[in-house]
Amino acid sequence: MFRGSFGELRLLRRGGGGGRRLSAAAAAAEGEGEEEEEGGRGGGRFRFYKSRGQHILANPQTLDAIVDRAELLEEDTVLEIGPGTGNLTLKLLRAARRVVAVEIDPRMVDALHRRVSRHGLSAKLQIVSGDALRTEFPEFDLCVANIPYGISSPLLDKLLFSHARARRRFRSATLLLQKEFARRLVAKPGDSERSRLAMNVGLVADVELIMEVGRGNFVPPPKVDSSLVKIRPKPAIPEIDLNEWWALTRACFGQRRKTLGAIFKQKAVLQGLLKEGGEEEESGVDVLRQKTMSVLREGGLVNARAGTLSEEDVLGLLAMFHREGIRFHHP
Ligand code: SAH
Repeated sequence: MFRGSFGELRLLRRGGGGGRRLSAAAAAAEGEGEEEEEGGRGGGRFRFYKSRGQHILANPQTLDAIVDRAELLEEDTVLEIGPGTGNLTLKLLRAARRVVAVEIDPRMVDALHRRVSRHGLSAKLQIVSGDALRTEFPEFDLCVANIPYGISSPLLDKLLFSHARARRRFRSATLLLQKEFARRLVAKPGDSERSRLAMNVGLVADVELIMEVGRGNFVPPPKVDSSLVKIRPKPAIPEIDLNEWWALTRACFGQRRKTLGAIFKQKAVLQGLLKEGGEEEESGVDVLRQKTMSVLREGGLVNARAGTLSEEDVLGLLAMFHREGIRFHHP
């Protein structure tokens, strides 16, 4: 339902390595001091699917750093998205009370089951076999994951809006993301990479860039670098209609090079607002234009561009539009 609310973000796919056959043992056990990985036996080698973002994080120092920065408590339930062969999962299982891991690839699910049971940790793990975007998340304290990058945007949407809306609080999500995506996610007002994504996420969460993780940490290595980010949901979400918020940020960022004055002068934009409001008269456009311009003047935002706005600016703008009886609707 909320999918796509973050706007048109073109994701570079984690490319490379497609079709290469690699021993899952190599990927899973590299440097970890583990004897083997079940998937590597008897010719049972994985073909890693590029389309599923299957790049196994194999550097033990990086895995340790992620667990360290996630700040797990012994009593925590952790949600992991895309556990793969379980390199991160094993470390999470050792540090937390319980891990719920959602994995779409049945081969990985099998391998993970076997590997975790060999380590005697099965009692702490629940594997949900399916698409993370379609399964309902359990209650959890932390989300920690090297996710498939292709679902970054809808996954954040789900975590921060659908899940949070159900009033299930979690402390933080520590996620590996594609570097470019992470940059747009943490961009502040005025940064050249400031995005609708950052604005929408910024409404409900604080985002911190923790560290860069090069492509060489993964097997097979993807064509892009990664960044670890930590996302902390804010204690209180403003009491607004999120659909209106999304519609307004879409209007502003849809023409991000134009000033707000130029955007809200446009007949097409105003007609859109009128239609949404249920009014149809032709003269309505002119009246509405006067209203939007006076709102922008009042807010000192006539010459502002989307990329310079803070979340507070947009909240203020929304409140002023409301006072003039102007409402936004998300398609
Ligand atoms: N976390 C592991 C594997 C990362 S690769 C590690 O760090 O080594 C990404 C994993 O996400 C793969 O196992 C892939 O099968 C899984 N995956 C891809 N799309 C998914 C989806 N929609 N829902 C759940 N898992 C998914």
